Amino acid sequence: MSCIFCEIARKNIKAEIIFENEKIISFLDINPVNFGHTLVIPKKHFADFISIEDEYLLELNRGIKIAAKAVTMALKAEGYNIFSNNGLAAGQSVFHFHAHIVPRFSSDHIKFKPELKIYSENEMKIYAEKIKNELIL
Ligand code: 5GP
Ligand code: ZN
Repeated sequence: MSCIFCEIARKNIKAEIIFENEKIISFLDINPVNFGHTLVIPKKHFADFISIEDEYLLELNRGIKIAAKAVTMALKAEGYNIFSNNGLAAGQSVFHFHAHIVPRFSSDHIKFKPELKIYSENEMKIYAEKIKNELIL
């Protein structure tokens, strides 16, 4: 299996690395939404968020927080988006989990918010029940 982010994690492909430790690595996105757009990934290959082994979750979240703070401070950003596309239908194009951190400015006019739907009567409860039935706690 060839995975561009595994190759970056192994240093077989060049990337502008921000920081790394045993479990995670953070580097600049090659096609940024805004300059300074940073990615954080587990070094081990997991296709999406649900697949990530629990032992990587804490370090990954710590890494996202560290990167978000550094990006915000470095660029004097007024805000930031943290997001992750999971699955083709959600717009994922690299199938090795990655969190995006995008610095934001009130002047940048980037639109992340989709058109929102409205639940009809009782529908909200039905959706909640469906989801609760699938919980593995
Ligand atoms: P996705 O579309 O899966 O949410 O995000 C994949 C991201 O990876 C894109 O924003 C894209 O610009 C970035 N990307 C794809 N290939 C490379 C690469 O070779 N190097 C770096 N640094 N970023 C990449
Ligand atoms: Zn990979």
